[in-house]
Amino acid sequence: MSELLQRSQTILIVDDVIENLRLLSTTLTEEGYQVRCAKNGAAGLMGAKNGMPDLILLDINMSGMDGYEVCQRLKSDPILQEIPVIFLSALDNISDKIAAFEVGGIDYITKPFQVAEVLARVKTQLMLRAAIAEIRELNQTLEDRVRHRTLELQFTNQKLQRSNQALQREIEERQNLEQQLIYEALYDSLTGLPNRSQLLEHIDRAIDRNQKQADDQFALLFIDLDRFKLVNDGMGHAVGDQLLGAIAQLLQSCIRQQDTVARLGGDEFVILLNNVQSITEATEISSRILEKLALPLSVGPHELIVTASIGIALSTSGYRDSTEIIRDADIAMYRAKEKGKDRYEIFSPSMYLKMLQKIEIEQNLRLALERDEFFLCYQPIVRIPQDESRNFGDRLSGCELVGFEALVRWQHPEQGMISPADFIPVAEETLLIAAIGQWVLREACQQLRDWQLRFGTAAASLTMSVNVAGYQLQKPDFVASLDQILEQTGLSPDNLILEITERTLVDSESATQETIAALQHRRIKLSIDDFGTGYSSLSYLHRFPVSVLKIDGSFVQRLDTDEQGGNIAKTIITLAESLNLVAIAEGVETAAQLEALKTLGCERAQGYWIAKPQRAEALEALLEECLNQTGLNQTGLNQTGLNQTELNNAEARDCSCQNTQGRSPSGFASS
Ligand code: C2E
Ligand code: MG
Ligand code: MG
Repeated sequence: MSELLQRSQTILIVDDVIENLRLLSTTLTEEGYQVRCAKNGAAGLMGAKNGMPDLILLDINMSGMDGYEVCQRLKSDPILQEIPVIFLSALDNISDKIAAFEVGGIDYITKPFQVAEVLARVKTQLMLRAAIAEIRELNQTLEDRVRHRTLELQFTNQKLQRSNQALQREIEERQNLEQQLIYEALYDSLTGLPNRSQLLEHIDRAIDRNQKQADDQFALLFIDLDRFKLVNDGMGHAVGDQLLGAIAQLLQSCIRQQDTVARLGGDEFVILLNNVQSITEATEISSRILEKLALPLSVGPHELIVTASIGIALSTSGYRDSTEIIRDADIAMYRAKEKGKDRYEIFSPSMYLKMLQKIEIEQNLRLALERDEFFLCYQPIVRIPQDESRNFGDRLSGCELVGFEALVRWQHPEQGMISPADFIPVAEETLLIAAIGQWVLREACQQLRDWQLRFGTAAASLTMSVNVAGYQLQKPDFVASLDQILEQTGLSPDNLILEITERTLVDSESATQETIAALQHRRIKLSIDDFGTGYSSLSYLHRFPVSVLKIDGSFVQRLDTDEQGGNIAKTIITLAESLNLVAIAEGVETAAQLEALKTLGCERAQGYWIAKPQRAEALEALLEECLNQTGLNQTGLNQTGLNQTELNNAEARDCSCQNTQGRSPSGFASS
């Protein structure tokens, strides 16, 4: 039970009748209450303030301040108002009782009072008070607990809100990441174009449509930028990246709504043309792309001109898989590169067969060096006599041997002789050319040195021209290994000429330029092979130490048939003269061509009409004969008595290479 009941309770009795005070005081004290008495209203108020009794028994009729007033004052005091007041009065009117309750009394005992009644009412009121106090206390405890719980809930709520927000942020981050991953899975980050996997999906859908409805055709353009590596290496990857971005925009401007441009990676782009009626639509878009590319592209402060090679494949071949049509467009693109770049080619099944052949060559080529399947042929290069009286109907009449061109041959154990025109491009692509070229250089230098040792001074000034691929010159150890070859064979660098193509010089990187400078330092001459077939810009002739221009056989062979061919040959001869270079006409096949070259003032020539490429042993008989006679420099080959029969014999032993189609490399049958 409450604290109030446990301790002894204090009762203040206010009455101006002493007997009443005494009787009540005695009775209540006996009951265990602590009792204080006041003889009038003022003393009662004072007693209440001083001791805070648990209950007041208050007489109404008192002299001075009556019970009502005392009660009113008590109730108007914020501290004392809680003390329960029981009125004692002889007044028994109902109005008196109402007045007593109105001023705040809680009970009313009529005098003369019964002690038992007083005790019962006192006890009841005290218990009531205790119960109220207890309820208040419980209420307070409850309120405290509610407050505490509310605070706890608020705290938990805040915590929950915070973790909700964190969770929300995490969900957003995950969603962003997910979107980023989806984007990266489907788009190329550099150009923003669809990437390979998205392209494959688009193509698969186009294949589906095509399978359901045969006239729903589509085409694929495989676009590869030409010489993009030069931009990347020369101007830096940042410029290269910007260029790719510009190209992506350019390609997008060339297509229709229903088409897709994608970047496969590097400098490779693919365009899927949907709803194509005929191949013309694909070729028209390809032409548009090439035309737009021909205009300078602004990339930062640079104005760049880029070309591209485009391969076209049409869905008519009944593709079942996206990779098949990409492969075919890629093959056609390679064909466009081979045909000189900056153009488009349409895929045909023969291209696929050619590619398979190429793969086979590549595999065999890897073994060929190990198996010793290569050998060299040497084609004589002669000085054309400028003497009017010479008669070229007699073939080598008066021509003076100045040197040889070494030409590699591949004798495959099953496939027979494979033309360099077929395997050199594959060797270049697979970089096997480095090892093959190295072998050729050593073999050719060794051969000329052997001849020099055998034929003495007569052979001292002969030169050996060796074809060298661009990749060989890029290799950092090229010069060192060439030095080693010259040292080991004992051949003087003056006797060596390296034949390179215009493309090698135009595309040259700094490594190649360093190599060329080192070659010049060693007095090794450079010859431009197939001159006139490559580039219109001739600025490289000033930049590089070139000594020889080899007029391409195609111009020489047109000398006796069409005028334009003659004009080109003449122009090259004049150019060589004015730049102080030696011009050598390649592929001379008739006396008339030789005659025409002589008339144009060309000094040197090489070709089937003069001598075919032959094995060293086959040439030795000729060499021996001509060099042992009066001396090469004055006499010339024909003066040695080389007659038609001997020439024919030599031809029988020749090793001009028949390519796989059974024709000589440039398409001419041997004479
Ligand atoms: P090229 O350097 O321009 O060599 C001249 C080609 O013309 C040779 O073809 C030669 O046999 C052929 N030829 C010579 N006279 C005549 C003629 O009167 N008429 C016709 N139609 N053709 C004639 P070949 O030996 O088949 O070589 C083809 C090409 O392969 C060479 O062209 C050269 O670019 C490359 N090549 C040959 N050997 C090597 C080598 O050792 N290394 C490298 N990198 N390339 C080589
Ligand atoms: Mg050559
Ligand atoms: Mg040539």
